[in-house]
Amino acid sequence: MKEALIVIDMLNDFIKKDGCLYCGEEAEKIVSAIQKEIAAFRKKRMPLVYVCDQHLPSDLEFKMFPQHCLVGSKGAEIISELSPQKEDFVIPKRRFSAFFQTDLDLTLRELGVNRLVLVGVCTNICLLYTAADARMRNYKVTILKNCVASFDLSAHKFALREMEKTLGCVIKYQK
Ligand code: ZN
Repeated sequence: MKEALIVIDMLNDFIKKDGCLYCGEEAEKIVSAIQKEIAAFRKKRMPLVYVCDQHLPSDLEFKMFPQHCLVGSKGAEIISELSPQKEDFVIPKRRFSAFFQTDLDLTLRELGVNRLVLVGVCTNICLLYTAADARMRNYKVTILKNCVASFDLSAHKFALREMEKTLGCVIKYQK
């Protein structure tokens, strides 16, 4: 079993108070736990993949949400606390699912990865739809409960339950 850590949307626009679509204190609180998980994966020499919202100004998502993570903007950058290193993979996405029209599946297959550990924001949006698409593709999925967050606590809880009961993900606390 080869694992990869998938760090989802830990970007200035979502995590920083002055970001265009700040996800709240719950999102800030998970940064140190994710730092710890990144360090553990580096130590095990297991792959780290950052998937990052990166929108065009004309993106239809802006009919539902305020403009955020515009391509080339400071807001679209990974927060400095979790900066990737040169051996890491950074994959842009334009939709909730990190698998939709991105390089993620091919990258994971080339690495021989069959289990994903998902961390980041938001539990009920990009985590949920990425977990669903991962399970459709037969990846095993673990969600680290203390490394995911949302601006909406009831949606966060619903998504954790849905990922566990319907998608068959393993939901657990970080070691
Ligand atoms: Zn977006």
